[in-house]
Amino acid sequence: MRSNIKLGTIHGIEIGLHYSWFIIAALIAFSLGGHFRQVNRNWSSAEVWSAALFTAVLFFVTLLLHELSHSLVAQARGLKVKAITLFALGGVSQIEEDAADAKTEFWVAIAGPIASLIIGFGCVAIAAALGWRPSAEPRTGPTAVLVWLGYINVGLGLFNLIPGFPLDGGRVFRAIVWAITKNADRSTRIAARVGQVVAFLFILAGLWSFFGGAGFNGLWTAFIGWFLMDAATSSYSQVDVAAAFRGMRVSDVMSRDCAIVNRSMNLQEFVDTYVLKTGQRCFAVEDHGGFVGLITLRDVGAVPRDRWESTTVREAMRPLDHLHIITPETQVLDALKLMAGNDINQLPVVANGTLQGILSRSHLMQLLRARSELQSPATYHVPLHRMNQRGVTP
Ligand SMILES: [Zn+2]
Repeated sequence: MRSNIKLGTIHGIEIGLHYSWFIIAALIAFSLGGHFRQVNRNWSSAEVWSAALFTAVLFFVTLLLHELSHSLVAQARGLKVKAITLFALGGVSQIEEDAADAKTEFWVAIAGPIASLIIGFGCVAIAAALGWRPSAEPRTGPTAVLVWLGYINVGLGLFNLIPGFPLDGGRVFRAIVWAITKNADRSTRIAARVGQVVAFLFILAGLWSFFGGAGFNGLWTAFIGWFLMDAATSSYSQVDVAAAFRGMRVSDVMSRDCAIVNRSMNLQEFVDTYVLKTGQRCFAVEDHGGFVGLITLRDVGAVPRDRWESTTVREAMRPLDHLHIITPETQVLDALKLMAGNDINQLPVVANGTLQGILSRSHLMQLLRARSELQSPATYHVPLHRMNQRGVTP
């Protein structure tokens, strides 16, 4: 999940919005407007819509506080936090490292729901102090806003405590299993299995209520279940990825037979002689025997076809100083995180200024598949981009 709009940084953490967030913000403002209009018939349209918009913005702030709680606790316990992105289903804190111990995992995971519960009960308490009674609909603008925010935040806090890994509650559960079993991989497997069961129950309950006449709410519950199922299943496969590559160095798995092209060749020539004949997707560019950059099919595709004759490989390639570089000694898992974090599919492996090979995501996936076929006939589904994301808060 990458943010499309950057809002700024807090404590070194980039805060951003994904476009999908606007859809949900508009939906919230719209349904709130309808709700406010219905319960406060004496309100003017201006009052209704300003309260609805204001509430939607405040909801965004409380979501951000939830994510910030995860992130700040993570920072305090020595983990690097890159960014927080808000999207249609809530927020994601990009914490770049995994917790090294069960205690850290526990506190980082539980910080978010605790924040939501405190905010929620706080809002309700303030509304009560302003004269709202739980048995009645709030009659004033401020109490209407506070009561809605209060309920939604308590709901968020409780929802996230459901042990559906990778929801916060699933992580809390995993931390507890981890503390008991002293085995990180096993605790993830157990938490992911429980997460799949919880997700299945969501889907079942959603479909049940949909066919019972609940309409959209039923479908929404089923959709959340499906989303949780996908997340739990990929968490399960990540353990296998981690287990398969733990302790391995890049030099063990990189491909050494990387095709090398000359930088002064034009793109048409390059495509004809290299791309179409080898079927490879990534090539090293050399100049006087030294490695100067990488050119991939993506880079070629970025140049309009009618300019291939007049564009050289050097002009289209990504030069060395724009590339993330790893050494043969880099841990494979660190390289995978680097690829996932920057959305790249291959990394040049360089030692002493010369190219030793290329590490590509597709090659690693082939290795995994080969391993898994020897163990079981099931095919693999490994969405590595999910690595190190946490705090999904529908
Ligand atoms: Zn959370």
